[in-house]
Formats: sequence, C-alpha cells, structure tokens
Amino acid sequence: MVLDCVIIGGGPAGLNAALVLGRAKKNIIVFDDNKPRNAVTHESHGFITRDKIKPAEFKRYALEDLKEYSNIIIKNQRVFDIKTENDRFFILTKDGNTFEARKVILATGLTDILPAIKGIHEFYGESLFSCPFCDGWELQDRPLVVISENERAFHMTKMIRNWSKDVVLCTNGQKVLSSEQRELLANKDIEVIEEEIEYLQGEDGRLRKIILKSGREVAREGGFVTTGLQQASPLAQQLGCSMNSMGGIDTDNSGRTAIAGVYACGDNSIIAPAQLIIAAAEGSKAAIAVVGDLVNEDF
Ligand SMILES: Cc1cc2nc3c(=O)[nH]c(=O)nc-3n(C[C@H](O)[C@H](O)[C@H](O)COP(=O)(O)OP(=O)(O)OC[C@H]3O[C@@H](n4cnc5c(N)ncnc54)[C@H](O)[C@@H]3O)c2cc1C
Repeated sequence: MVLDCVIIGGGPAGLNAALVLGRAKKNIIVFDDNKPRNAVTHESHGFITRDKIKPAEFKRYALEDLKEYSNIIIKNQRVFDIKTENDRFFILTKDGNTFEARKVILATGLTDILPAIKGIHEFYGESLFSCPFCDGWELQDRPLVVISENERAFHMTKMIRNWSKDVVLCTNGQKVLSSEQRELLANKDIEVIEEEIEYLQGEDGRLRKIILKSGREVAREGGFVTTGLQQASPLAQQLGCSMNSMGGIDTDNSGRTAIAGVYACGDNSIIAPAQLIIAAAEGSKAAIAVVGDLVNEDF
C-alpha cells in the first residue's frame, strides 16, 4: 500500500501533524525512536492546559488521542534513509523494512550540544536549563549563572535578568562580548567571568558552585546555558533540503521544504522559538499543507 504521508518524529510537531492528517482521512505512519530534546527534564511548562506536565505524560496523552484513528499507525523505529523515485518516497527503517509514501514530514527535532565542562550533565535539566521561557519561573530571583561560550552570551544574559537580578556570566575562557556589551552588563552589575571553568559542583542535580581554574568558587543555585544545536537526524541533508544559516531546515510558512513532497516542522527549522506549543502548531500547519497538496494533485 502507498501511504499518503509518513511522519518522521513523534514529538509534539510530528504527533500534532499526525492528528490533523488522520482527521483528514489520510493513511499515515509515524516513525519515532523516542529521543525527544527535552528528555532530561521532569516537567514541561507553558503549554496551556498542560503546564507542569511530565514530558512522558504529555506524549502518553498525545498517543491516546491518536488511538481513536485507525488510519494512523505509530512505529517505534528509527528511519535511517529515504530514497526518492518518480515522486514517491521509500522510507527505510532500522529493522530493514521499506515503506512507500507520497509525502514525508520531517519532525525530527534537534539535539543540544553542551559545553565540555566537567559535571554539566549532572545539572542540565535539573537546575541548569537552556530556555528561560520554559524554566525561568522556577529559578526566579535566585543567584543564577549564564554559561555561554558563543555569540548568544549577551542576549541570554540580558534575558535572564528578567527572571533574576543576581546574574553572573561565565564564558569558560572564551571572549564573546563586544566592549559595548561588556559595558552594558557592567552597568547592570552583571559580573562577566572569562576564566575557564574547572568543574561544576552540587548535589542531586542542584548546582551549588562553579569552580574556576584559578580555584575561585562562585556560589550559584542554577542557571542557563547556550547549547550548540544539531539536527537530530541527517535525513533533511540526505534528501537535499536547503538549510538556513543556523543549520535549520529551510521551509516556507507552511512547512514546505525546497524538495517537492518533503515538509518540515518543529524545532528542526531552528527559526521559531523552541516551545512544545509552537512545535505542535507547526506540525498542524505542515499537515494542512500536505492535505492541501494531495487534494490539489488528486482533484
Ligand atoms: C532542557 C529542555 C527543556 C525544555 N522545556 C520546555 C518546556 O518546559 N516547555 C516548552 O514548551 N518547551 C520546552 N523545551 C523545548 C521542547 O522540548 C521542544 O521545543 C520540542 O520538544 C520540539 O518538538 P519537536 O517535535 O520538534 O522535537 P522533539 O520533541 O525533539 O521530537 C523529535 C522526535 O523525533 C525522533 N526522531 C528524530 N530522528 C528520527 C529518525 N530518523 N527516525 C525516527 N525518529 C526520529 C526523536 O527521537 C524524537 O522523539 C525544552 C527543551 C529542552 C532542551
């Protein structure tokens, strides 16, 4: 059977796309190897009706909604390649099976690359986070650190001051600020520490101190880190999709990529703020575009 659409990725983007396609009577399969970007966290915030929900619970609710639709199949498998032939896509899964589809939605998400600092993984998702809109409320008014080795250091530090006035920026040995940015931070009593970090100290995921190479200890109770961002799957590049300057998949406003029949949604475009509700909305938009394109082709 030729599927109407295959969705790769079962995060909020892919699962919302599935819901919309399912309700449009399309036969689809969602492939998901269940490694969402926010797997390190205990709670998700900012999705109305679902504030403070556990990521696994959010997914369970989504999958329950999809069970109502017999035309939606979920397969917990990684897709490792997609071949194209005569406007058709052949989706190859890890277990050696091939599935044929008319359209493909990439909802594959991103992977965060943390700075190479000893101990950082122990605190990431517990008291160190990457997005203040997701986790700023929980850390408000505490002594915070921004760890950033890149050009996002100034912007992130400026934003974090919205949640706490007690902020220190650590660049871990990198010079990432202009003299104007340095002055602006100094005017707000934000210390900039450019010395290398030896390690992070704390217990049970709660950050207590940043230990610098010189032995200086900086007491902090949590903070934010600007991570490197990487596509969680190489499929977009393999298919020949054009990528934007930040390494995200280029799409039009409806999720269409440069390759006919291939759509992308969710974090993998990197342009939209990374939020569950935005990823879900983008999934919905991409699915509507797929249905529109199928209807136009068949009418
Ligand atoms: C630490 C942290 C905390 C966050 N907290 C919040 C929060 O509180 N509130 C909020 O709104 N947002 C939060 N976010 C952002 C949120 O996690 C993302 O915006 C959202 O997960 C993006 O959804 P997505 O569907 O695009 O990708 P993801 O949720 O990452 O899902 C992508 C899925 O695709 C699968 N996949 C990838 N490649 C393949 C393949 N080749 N084959 C099969 N499956 C594949 C992955 O395994 C994964 O399951 C947080 C992010 C981080 C890093």
